[in-house]
Amino acid sequence: MALIVQKYGGTSVGSVERIQAVAEKVKTFKEQGHDIVVVVSAMSGETNRLIGLANQISEMPTPREMDVLVSTGEQVTIALLSMALNKLGVDARSYTGPQVRIVTDDAYMKARIQEIDTKNMRADLDAGRVVVVAGFQGVDGSGNITTLGRGGSDTTGVALAAALKADECQIYTDVDGVYTTDPRVVEKARRMDKITFEEMLEMASLGSKVLQIRSVEFAGKYKVPLRVLHSFKEGAGTLITIEDTDAVEQPIISGIAFNRDEAKLTVQGVPDIPGVASKILGPVSAANIEVDMIVQNVAADGNTDFTFTVHRNDYKKTLNILQDVAKQLGAREVKGANDIAKVSMVGVGMRSHAGVASKMFECLANENINIQIISTSEIKISVVISEKYMELAVRALHTAFGLDADDKDGE
Ligand code: ADP
Ligand code: ASP
Ligand code: MG
Repeated sequence: MALIVQKYGGTSVGSVERIQAVAEKVKTFKEQGHDIVVVVSAMSGETNRLIGLANQISEMPTPREMDVLVSTGEQVTIALLSMALNKLGVDARSYTGPQVRIVTDDAYMKARIQEIDTKNMRADLDAGRVVVVAGFQGVDGSGNITTLGRGGSDTTGVALAAALKADECQIYTDVDGVYTTDPRVVEKARRMDKITFEEMLEMASLGSKVLQIRSVEFAGKYKVPLRVLHSFKEGAGTLITIEDTDAVEQPIISGIAFNRDEAKLTVQGVPDIPGVASKILGPVSAANIEVDMIVQNVAADGNTDFTFTVHRNDYKKTLNILQDVAKQLGAREVKGANDIAKVSMVGVGMRSHAGVASKMFECLANENINIQIISTSEIKISVVISEKYMELAVRALHTAFGLDADDKDGE
């Protein structure tokens, strides 16, 4: 008998029939003698629908009210799932985040979990009940409802598993595990039996939305055994593991991540003198805009170009800030593009293998894809390219690095 936290995503609870199917599945686990805590997302499309309603009323709704609004999606599914379980003769109780007391900081729409009170959940489990908890939400120290950022139900699942010292956290979704890249984009993507926390963290932060990045951080920090599985298909899914240093054969590249969430800005012809980077990026960070990749070119004639990327939502705001900065610095011009994509290759095997970058660049060159920015770290290489070539690039790299399903032991 084990204590298992199961998280079901939006598609898995996207209709009454699916909620009933989830209830059947939970019942089976319960009958096997396990203690079960279930975390659910809102029905698929619901969070977007709620955000759409808010935007019809205001371009900039206050974050506090956004959280009151978007947290309602999960309140619907916890109640419906508990009802479905009760109907099957399984005793179950639903809890919103604030009812559990999932305490967060007060950063609305991107709150971080600080503490979880396990008392109510424990009492229910001891009484033989299934506990059903709303994902994505919590409460701050002053009693305000908060949410954890898009995809945040994953983090609720892992955080509950950590707080309850569960034997496993199972993330049930609409794919049967973590793939070498998004299987909806590359048909030949291959499911991995396991992936290290470190690699999963990079994949999540570079755009693979199968797990929210905070959930992977939590699982790594609190050593929560974490598995991604299909809600309605049998299979072992993908286990997120501590690095297996004994592995004889480690693939150099484990996966390819991509995102279209960024925009690129360049200040051209900036005087190449000390303090320029801070003069450009200071006002950007003062406006609470996060900067991702940064490149400063070698100076010619005492002038240089300074390029960086921000989230696409911050593109216009950043462009406005840079117009002012450019005037003050005597820069020649500010340019920007929001039709870019970032493609990244991830793998712990990169540490011990040279030549990954050059092979990547050669592959992109063969497809006639121009690289605009490059950045690397120990276990990843990212490039910024034109958005319209993103899928082509991902497919070509997937094949070039031998990741296609029919290359090895794939299905
Ligand atoms: P849920 O609603 O269950 O949380 P998400 O849509 O958030 O589901 O995450 C599952 C989706 O993640 C899949 O449908 C898939 O398109 C996408 N995805 C992106 N990258 C990967 C990857 N490397 N492996 C598996 N799925 C991925
Ligand atoms: N419902 C929220 C979202 O769509 C949280 C989640 O699904 O994980 O982002
Ligand atoms: Mg998700």
